[in-house]
Amino acid sequence: MLICYTMGIAEALRNVREEINDAAVKSRRVPEEIKLVAVSKAANPGMIAEAVRAGALIFGESRVQEAEKKVKSEELRVKSEKIEWHLIGHLQKNKVKHAVQLFDLIHSVDSAGLAEEVNRQAEKINKIQRILVEVKLSEEASKHGVAEKGLTALLVQIAGMDNLKPEGLMTIPPYFDDPEKTRLYFRRLRQLQDNLNALHITHYAFRELSMGMSNDFRVAIEEGSTMVRIGTAIFGERK
Ligand SMILES: *Cc1c(COP(=O)(O)O)cnc(C)c1O
Repeated sequence: MLICYTMGIAEALRNVREEINDAAVKSRRVPEEIKLVAVSKAANPGMIAEAVRAGALIFGESRVQEAEKKVKSEELRVKSEKIEWHLIGHLQKNKVKHAVQLFDLIHSVDSAGLAEEVNRQAEKINKIQRILVEVKLSEEASKHGVAEKGLTALLVQIAGMDNLKPEGLMTIPPYFDDPEKTRLYFRRLRQLQDNLNALHITHYAFRELSMGMSNDFRVAIEEGSTMVRIGTAIFGERK
């Protein structure tokens, strides 16, 4: 997609929503089952407030401390009641306490040790923390996530932790200019989720598939995404 930098946030959001709808209809899905996570890591509180006014309800941040400043900022105080904040970036153990206080959903749980710490901190504040498990489907050293072969064991462990609610899976495929090349990664994540659901690890099914970014969300939706994480197409390039 070409990004027009003179486009306002409201207009960019409208365009993204339209494209989500089109991709859903094209793949015979209900647009309402696809949530838009507006990735605000490059946005300041004023920009986030503008997106809120344009109807955005879920914001994704990749760093705990940056998110904390924004969540507590003046600009967002009044509005923040109905807003959901999601952590989409890698989580370090020493940041878990703050993350659990701040975020409605953590997309990036990828080890038993991290899950245990999230569970422990959630228990302390009497919270059931919604989480997704991040899966690493490529060999890139820079990526986080549990490898496919460790996924089932990790979810079995997580299912035994009382203050966690695992809702599904998340992945970040390698970047390709041609979004078609990401299709197999998205399809694989969907298969892994279907396989997990067939094992009935929890009494409910894992429903969420957090996959798709500005460049490839249409393909992700065609492959079953329920949460697209979109930054650049809404807020512009990170400065
Ligand atoms: C930054 C980021 C996004 C958004 O990427 P865009 O290409 O700007 O849409 C999505 N997911 C994660 C994990 C990110 O770090």
